Amino acid sequence: MCTYNIMQKVILKKGKEKSVVHRHPWIFSGAIAHAEVSDGQLAAVCAHDGTVLAWGYYNSRTDIAVRLLSFGDRKPDTDLFVNRICASLTLRKVTGITQCTNAYRLIHSEGDMLPGLIVDWYKGHCVMQSLTLGMDKLKVTIAQIINDVLKPESIYERSDHEGRKKEGLHEQSTQVYGYTPEIIEVNENGMLFLVDVRRGQKTGFFCDQRDNRKKVKEIANGRDVLNLFSYTGGFSVAALLGGAKSAVSVDGSGSALQVAHRNCEMNNVGQAHEIIKADVFDYINNNDITQNLIICDPPALAKNKASVNNAARGYKELNLKIISKCPADSFLLTCSCSRFIDHKLFQQIVFAACNDAGRDACIVGRYSQPADHPVNIYCPETEYLKALLLYIY
Ligand code: SAH
Repeated sequence: MCTYNIMQKVILKKGKEKSVVHRHPWIFSGAIAHAEVSDGQLAAVCAHDGTVLAWGYYNSRTDIAVRLLSFGDRKPDTDLFVNRICASLTLRKVTGITQCTNAYRLIHSEGDMLPGLIVDWYKGHCVMQSLTLGMDKLKVTIAQIINDVLKPESIYERSDHEGRKKEGLHEQSTQVYGYTPEIIEVNENGMLFLVDVRRGQKTGFFCDQRDNRKKVKEIANGRDVLNLFSYTGGFSVAALLGGAKSAVSVDGSGSALQVAHRNCEMNNVGQAHEIIKADVFDYINNNDITQNLIICDPPALAKNKASVNNAARGYKELNLKIISKCPADSFLLTCSCSRFIDHKLFQQIVFAACNDAGRDACIVGRYSQPADHPVNIYCPETEYLKALLLYIY
């Protein structure tokens, strides 16, 4: 640790260095005594006595005032970013992801120690998403490194995340390098999916459900499937290829359902697939459930800490309706992608739903996100996906 003079710095209040010492990558505004740095710039984070503890980028507009890129006194440079990107790629290779699919998350923000940056890889094409002002200032450097190291056919930027507003940023979607096709056909564990990088949700595809789709494929034989919040029908394709007799995909997005239809056709399971454009909450209120394999993968119902109680009620109602209505001998794969609801709370919510429905049920699987969405051990907030596979008697 050194105490030399650094132009751009953030000085912590006395006693507020604990989270940095514990390598948590966020510094909240309340922990800062004063900041000598402009928004979006790199700054040294110093203890009250001036000792440099870490480096990160600063934004005075957001509750998380600094997102840390490195610990210790060395200023992050191009070499650090090259190392991080190479480590991310190695991780995907070593964990077998690049062998089973050509659609995966290459950089998962704090999970890969590059806060504010998402990069998804679709069959040689990269889709970048910058979530923060600090990352926006670094993204040209990062795109250059991705080009040099990974040599993708193209890079497209899908920085249209709503969280950018509070960072003081506009939405931005643009071709950064090369040409990205309108639709990319990817292969995940032998299943084919179409990815619409420009108009799809997030960066076009939900790679995070890969392992759960595989699980559904394994248990689907002979079952009828109800895929709620289906998006482009990933779970429906998986179930039908696993031998399901039928699958119904329900989603509020007509364009996503069109892709779901095409995905089923492309995998030669179109005849057994039906799409229903509806609000899922209305749909399950107004319809019986005859299917005996149900997938429920709603968008994050808790967008922040303040909405956890409301969201918990939402998850409970949703699961209660499904569990009350499904026939005997059903499987339910129920998911939550809210990072503010942890595994324990989610299980309590599902327990309450089973109990209120008066159904016998057991948990046959507990799942999280796959290895291309790594969890930063110092930042439990990076673990967001929870799924329970229930058997309902
Ligand atoms: N399971 C999907 C991903 C689901 S993402 C997969 O594996 O690819 C969540 C989906 O919920 C989106 O497609 C979105 O259009 C849909 N959605 C959000 N709110 C909805 C609502 N109230 N009713 C129906 N669909 C909704």
